[in-house]
Amino acid sequence: MNNQCDGCIRGIPVVNGVHRDAQYFGMVCSKERYTEEPKMSRLQYIPQEGTSTLQVTMAGSGLVVGELYREVDGFYVLDLIRKQGYLPSWYLLELGHKLEELNKEWAEQIDRDLKRLGGLNNDSTTT
Ligand SMILES: [Zn+2]
Repeated sequence: MNNQCDGCIRGIPVVNGVHRDAQYFGMVCSKERYTEEPKMSRLQYIPQEGTSTLQVTMAGSGLVVGELYREVDGFYVLDLIRKQGYLPSWYLLELGHKLEELNKEWAEQIDRDLKRLGGLNNDSTTT
């Protein structure tokens, strides 16, 4: 949900959680009411020694929920160790973003290599 706080919408400076300027003073900022997810990561990624694998745990409880590991094609994927229960949207979104971040460099390298080799459309069967 978008931030519906009037003070924020009008761009009035915040001091100690209160919007204040010459006209508008003492208006408590209510943006917290409109933010669904805290900014802080609720998952932890713990590197596993001697591998490129990252163990995924819940930041609060330490519960192991899965592993991000590099598949044979070089891209990181999720191995969901915890196969029971349910997964909320923030969890999937956060893991998705983490995978994108981990795979970015490799995807860019593949693009560069393909360009150097003339691309996927280079038809060598007719030559
Ligand atoms: Zn506000």
